[in-house]
Amino acid sequence: MAAVARAQPARAANALSRRQAERRQIAQPVRALVGAADFAAQAAGLAHTLAAGPLPLAAGGLAAAGLASLVPPPPAGLREPVSVSLEGGKAPLNTHGVGRGGKFPPFQGKVLAIERMGGRDAERDVSRIVIETGGVLFHEGQSFGVVPPGTKINSKGQEVPETVRLYSIASSRYGDRHDGKTCTLCVVRVVWHDEEGKVHRGVCSNYLCDLKVGDTIQMTGPSGTAMLLPDNHMQRRIVCVATGTGIAPFRAFWRRLFFDQVPGHPHGYQGRFWLLAGFANPDSELFTKELRSIEAANPDHFRLDVALSLTQTNQRGGPEYVQDRIEESGEEFLALLASDDCLFYFCGLKRMYSSVVEVLERLGEERGVDTKALIAKLKKEHRWHVETA
Ligand code: NAD
Repeated sequence: MAAVARAQPARAANALSRRQAERRQIAQPVRALVGAADFAAQAAGLAHTLAAGPLPLAAGGLAAAGLASLVPPPPAGLREPVSVSLEGGKAPLNTHGVGRGGKFPPFQGKVLAIERMGGRDAERDVSRIVIETGGVLFHEGQSFGVVPPGTKINSKGQEVPETVRLYSIASSRYGDRHDGKTCTLCVVRVVWHDEEGKVHRGVCSNYLCDLKVGDTIQMTGPSGTAMLLPDNHMQRRIVCVATGTGIAPFRAFWRRLFFDQVPGHPHGYQGRFWLLAGFANPDSELFTKELRSIEAANPDHFRLDVALSLTQTNQRGGPEYVQDRIEESGEEFLALLASDDCLFYFCGLKRMYSSVVEVLERLGEERGVDTKALIAKLKKEHRWHVETA
């Protein structure tokens, strides 16, 4: 049976040039913290002030202004009808696997669309791949495995099938076509240099990023329960913290909350979704257009904070990371940590997560709040979810 391992991006080919670039570009001005200012203003009960100008008045805006009773139920906004109902029941687990890993053998996915994400100056080569699954079920927060073609030599010198790599699913269970028959992956091409300068290419990420429309791939899963949403998530406050392609599972969340007309939830998502995402520079941002459209249509239910480490500086003059955004919104973040309904999700780099915990502990110490105890409580209540590599 082939071992299953999370695909590691290993050392990026551009690690050195990135450090050089950071030194070169770090002096550039910090982009205005529009999202943060807006959210803070709302929290303080202040008027809606946005540097970027007025937002279209969406259903949430009317409700906040006390006008909800004068208007019909909230318009669908961005939401599109789903053609099947995939509600109810537990998240499916490993229905398809290699060896004895699944009930059924791997399923065949077919590439419906593949596009390179980001702009010309993107730090990483990331592809969005829409795959026809034939209706294999999954829930938001799960991963699919990909079986790259070919074989490898294992530690015993034997030729064995290539290892299955896991990729977080970046679409809701209804898929980007709202029919429950596709999934989307968001894959970063892994390339690195060893000490002798020899170039190495990640087997599976390069295989996936080089696929063409119509190609078929062998897939396993769905797997993973660590990043699932609880049953009543359509009403909950949710905070998601991501770096790079760690944004993938959160796209699954926001597609469900803001793009699908989820059966049984005619008024859509009623909670507040706060996404803090870290990228290298504006061209490296992922799903920007989609996120900006949610931000515009759902000002009362959505907040976006983007930290750009190569083009923004934090208060100490270093690169701006998501943990700096958390530090900058200290009181507010601590209040959510202490609330009894908010859900927290972290996905991306391990060092991002450890820095977030350090920041929270420091914030707590400064304010006499025992954040360690709060996090322990959140974990116990299954409200603290971490998937990092
Ligand atoms: P990356 O290496 O390009 O990093 C993305 C951004 O994170 C950087 O541009 C930078 O702005 C920021 N960053 C760098 N160092 C940081 C630090 N110390 N603290 C906070 N932010 C920092 O990202 P990538 O190649 O897209 O991969 C992201 C990570 O997420 C990988 O480790 C990948 O394996 C993991 N990942 C995990 C899952 C999952 O577990 N479900 C899914 C996708 C990606």
